[in-house]
Amino acid sequence: MPAPRIVIIGAGFAGYNVARRLERSMSPHAAQIRIVAPFGYTLYQPLLPQVAAGVLDPRSIAGPLHRLLRRTQLVPGSAVGVDLGAQAVEVSTIDGRTTTLPYDRLVLCPGSVTRTFDIPGLHEHGHGMKNLAEAVYLRDHVVAQLELASIARDPAERAARCGFLVVGGGYSGVETAANLQLLTAQAMRSFPRLDPALLSWTLVDVADRLLPELGGRLGDVALRKLGRRGIDIRLGVSLERLTEDQAVLTDGRVLPCRTAVWTAGVTPAPVVGTLAAPKERGRLVVGADLRLAGHDDVFALGDAAAVPDLVTGNGAVCPPTAQHASRQASVAAHNVVASLRGAPSAEYRHRDLGLAVDLGGGQAVARPVGLGLTGVPAQAVTRGYHLLTVPGMRAKARVLGDWALHRFAGDDLIRLGFLNTRTGALADLEHTA
Ligand SMILES: Cc1cc2nc3c(=O)[nH]c(=O)nc-3n(C[C@H](O)[C@H](O)[C@H](O)COP(=O)(O)OP(=O)(O)OC[C@H]3O[C@@H](n4cnc5c(N)ncnc54)[C@H](O)[C@@H]3O)c2cc1C
Repeated sequence: MPAPRIVIIGAGFAGYNVARRLERSMSPHAAQIRIVAPFGYTLYQPLLPQVAAGVLDPRSIAGPLHRLLRRTQLVPGSAVGVDLGAQAVEVSTIDGRTTTLPYDRLVLCPGSVTRTFDIPGLHEHGHGMKNLAEAVYLRDHVVAQLELASIARDPAERAARCGFLVVGGGYSGVETAANLQLLTAQAMRSFPRLDPALLSWTLVDVADRLLPELGGRLGDVALRKLGRRGIDIRLGVSLERLTEDQAVLTDGRVLPCRTAVWTAGVTPAPVVGTLAAPKERGRLVVGADLRLAGHDDVFALGDAAAVPDLVTGNGAVCPPTAQHASRQASVAAHNVVASLRGAPSAEYRHRDLGLAVDLGGGQAVARPVGLGLTGVPAQAVTRGYHLLTVPGMRAKARVLGDWALHRFAGDDLIRLGFLNTRTGALADLEHTA
């Protein structure tokens, strides 16, 4: 009997952990495991804002797949279609060719992309914070704005280059605003010709509170801490229009601004839309055993799947978080193996362990296992959690080293300049939907 073929789409929190668990639970000849991934790394997204802020080196949050996965064959490319009837995945490899991968079991983990709306100018001028290219680009872009502001003669240009806007008051937007604001405030020492009072940071969200995932009190603590640093936080407000040097908010305010970062939500990766399968708000509908409705040989998890939240109940689905994606991976791997061995499946059931938000500069807010923390304890929990979960010993060592170096030596403000010929807007660096 030929070994069953297992194909995994996506090597993020869900896909990488499924592959790792399958390697551990199956003997080398028991199955052929392949993972389709556009990049050679698994990305630790929660630390992207620290890459953008220059606290961490990009490589520190990119777990090398060739090193971390021993027996899984990496197919460098993107899945562009799935024929559920013929049990085959169509892949566009990184050299632009197309190849077909037949499968006996398919695990869909393509994650999500930034969700955008029809806001004039957003695609052309807005920046995302969802992948490594965006984080690295944003850092270059922010440093470039300060360099250009310091030589600008026109006060309007100087104001726009020193004006920064983040849309989205969830963990991703708050960490982005907090960490980048610190970068710009500290960078001012290197630009003596610039008046620090010119720096203007605005964070907006349509919701009426910051960090709703953390509960009211901690969201208010974060709001106060960021407010004290000079970040203007506007709740119940969104972006109406964006141009090259101006952002118009829904409350009528016009901000001189050449840097607008959009972090207001995610939606499943585009390949999910090509699947002829039921969806809930774009996410693939699966059972608690992570099987795709009507397809016993196909599993879906992570941000791309609407996984029933059995702990919360009432028909709720798990929110799109790394915590759920990596824990669902254990159940998915178990059920893939069980399905090959004719054993019973397990159901996904996980009590949320809470969230930790790093505000930079030693500040953080966290709610581990329902315990509300601020200040140093929150910072210790936040950083400890990242150190535990960033994949691979080398990455852990790198992250620890980068934190120490940044703490004691500060930022070199190196602008790499390798994206000078491209704008690096959402439309350039991401397939948004
Ligand atoms: C800035 C930021 C901060 C965050 N902070 C936290 C946090 O503190 N705590 C938390 O729990 N969560 C956090 N998250 C959310 C968390 O990162 C996601 O929920 C998690 O990454 C989802 O895992 P996933 O495997 O489903 O998707 P991903 O990790 O996004 O992985 C999907 C992978 O599939 C690849 N892919 C996409 N399309 C295809 C295709 N067609 N073919 C092949 N591969 C494809 C992608 O390139 C990607 O590598 C944060 C996210 C961001 C952006």
